[in-house]
Amino acid sequence: MSHSTIVVGGGLAGASLARGLAHAGVEVLVLERELEFKDRVRGEQMHPWGVSEARALGIYELIKSCGTEVRIWDRQIAGAPRRAPCDLVDTSPHRAGSLNFYHPEMQTALLASAEHSGATVKRAVTVLEVIPGDRPRVRAREGGREQTYSANLVIGADGRNSRCRHWAGFQVDQDPKLMWIAGVLLEGLAAPTDRVCLLINPSAGVWSLIAPLGGSRFRAYVGIFKSQGMKPLSGHQALSDFVNASISAGAPSVWFEHMSPVGPLACFEAADQWIRHPYRNGAATQVPSTHTRSFLVADGVVCIPINDLPCVERPPECYCIIGSGKTGIDACLWLLANKVSPDSIRWIMPRDGWWSNRAKLQWTEDFFETSVSSVADQMEALAEATSVDDLFARFEACGASYRLDPDITPTMFHGATISASELNALRQIKDIVRMGRVKSIQREAIILERGELASRDDCLYVDCSATGIPLRPNVPVFNDRRITLQFVRAFRPCLSAAAIAFIEAHFADDAEKNTLCAPVPPVTAGLGWVRIVSISMANHARWSNHPELMRWLASSRLDGGVHGDHWVKGCWKSTEGGKPHPDVQICIMNARCIQLIAQERPNWPPAGDNLFIDMDLSPDNTPPGTRLGIGTAVIEITAIPHNGCASFAARYGVMRRSS
Ligand SMILES: Cc1cc2nc3c(=O)[nH]c(=O)nc-3n(C[C@H](O)[C@H](O)[C@H](O)COP(=O)(O)OP(=O)(O)OC[C@H]3O[C@@H](n4cnc5c(N)ncnc54)[C@H](O)[C@@H]3O)c2cc1C
Repeated sequence: MSHSTIVVGGGLAGASLARGLAHAGVEVLVLERELEFKDRVRGEQMHPWGVSEARALGIYELIKSCGTEVRIWDRQIAGAPRRAPCDLVDTSPHRAGSLNFYHPEMQTALLASAEHSGATVKRAVTVLEVIPGDRPRVRAREGGREQTYSANLVIGADGRNSRCRHWAGFQVDQDPKLMWIAGVLLEGLAAPTDRVCLLINPSAGVWSLIAPLGGSRFRAYVGIFKSQGMKPLSGHQALSDFVNASISAGAPSVWFEHMSPVGPLACFEAADQWIRHPYRNGAATQVPSTHTRSFLVADGVVCIPINDLPCVERPPECYCIIGSGKTGIDACLWLLANKVSPDSIRWIMPRDGWWSNRAKLQWTEDFFETSVSSVADQMEALAEATSVDDLFARFEACGASYRLDPDITPTMFHGATISASELNALRQIKDIVRMGRVKSIQREAIILERGELASRDDCLYVDCSATGIPLRPNVPVFNDRRITLQFVRAFRPCLSAAAIAFIEAHFADDAEKNTLCAPVPPVTAGLGWVRIVSISMANHARWSNHPELMRWLASSRLDGGVHGDHWVKGCWKSTEGGKPHPDVQICIMNARCIQLIAQERPNWPPAGDNLFIDMDLSPDNTPPGTRLGIGTAVIEITAIPHNGCASFAARYGVMRRSS
């Protein structure tokens, strides 16, 4: 049976995804093991950020109908002064409380909603194996029989002990299992119904969490370090030990006087699990919403990933942007565009960077001249520079590069690209902190690599510190039957992937394929532009020995020959099949010649898509087959001359050779 998408598992993740896909018109099949969901003692308290996601996904009301939302978070630590409970709606950036629900009801309702949205949901189907491949297959047992499905895409949403991860070959890492977590559903507990209570007793190595689920039900958890010597608290015979542990964490004993369990008491070994490289063989990227921050954030300090900025409902007095890469730039620009005063922004800039000028990197016809002449300027700068710093200063002088502060020499180039107006906007921010990376954020101070800084009042910290493209050791792209996707053209991930695919499909030998695909580091420490571009240009030079590869490249919309050139859209000479003739992609003309014909520079562009070069283009100096390197492009002189079309003659007049 063939499907577009199969989701393995109908939990919170699988059911919401299937619902969303079905809403978007995708044909989707959910395979869920359970016929009836039972209390599995897990996943019933959703933090404000999750509530905000649920709202965005349109499943908030549905989940709320299976429980209740409370706005108070009451965390007390034994031995410490009593803290005022925290109002989550007032203090969280998402303006949301804690959404608590009964998991089996939530799963049932979400799967029904997915089905209602158009997904096919099959219950009592146990997936036995997912076989990866071009068209992955799913082997499943249903009704005592084995069944095989195939799909364009199989998504593993089979929970904490996911087998899909294993079948797909992902490596799963796990922290040491140092703690037991036990949980039970209780009725008749005399705990408050308007708050989640978290009680921690560090000296006893135990904590208790009690969350009201609506009605008279509560989910109660206890966490105990294994080093305390406690056996796993599971089964109803362990209930009194569970209650005692809750009391030793700080829960008042009166709460438990009339309670009774209405579900199993189950115990789990607690340890974080994660997959090391979600993008297994590729250029793994990191983003602020999922990366592990490299700095500590004290209680009471609000630090959000950039993605949450639009959810901030109460503007703080100050925004502190952490990180000077493109994410940090975009956070500042977004705030400024949303009328936040530059004086309300503090920008922590561990390193200054060189940025590319967007106006010089526009590969469309309108910007053809600017962009190509900028490449020429950069090549000139490369030829004349005496050091890498001098090279970037020359790039700046010719308008190819920007920096925030003309008095500071940047030490980083990651390819961030901005416009002149964005540069001007960023320069309005005056509170730039250049004291290295953040080590921790306390309530009163920020601790940085090179000192401490007092916090500004009512400051919202915005994490933009994820390493967009981490530095990874380069490995051969082709290794036996494995392809490790990497850049093979500088700064062009899509073109790189497409070129790797073309080379895989058209060349047989791994050694030859790897010669054509020397991995280009996506970024390097410091100002690695020269290395990146030289590897990229060397790849291109090797590609240019293979006409078929060059023809594909020229016709690929990811590259399109020399960008801005009109050739791909159709030109004055076609092949027999009616396609643009590959031998007439670019017309080059001697710059002195056009100067003679058109005089001033502003009169040159009507000549069309010509490349003006100041060199001897006579057949003696550049016979067919001659190769010219221009930036990262290598162009080859062909035998077919272009002698000026009717439009050229109409614009400049007809030249007659004097006899
Ligand atoms: C003790 C404990 C307490 C927790 N407390 C919280 C909490 O308070 N808040 C919170 O957000 N999270 C909590 N969690 C984590 C919680 O379990 C997850 O957030 C949530 O359940 C994840 O949803 P999911 O859809 O990924 O996986 P699951 O809810 O586990 O759903 C996976 C589904 O896949 C199905 N399945 C599995 N294997 C197969 C197969 N081979 N074939 C077909 N179907 C299959 C299962 O039957 C299940 O329905 C807790 C976890 C534990 C262990």
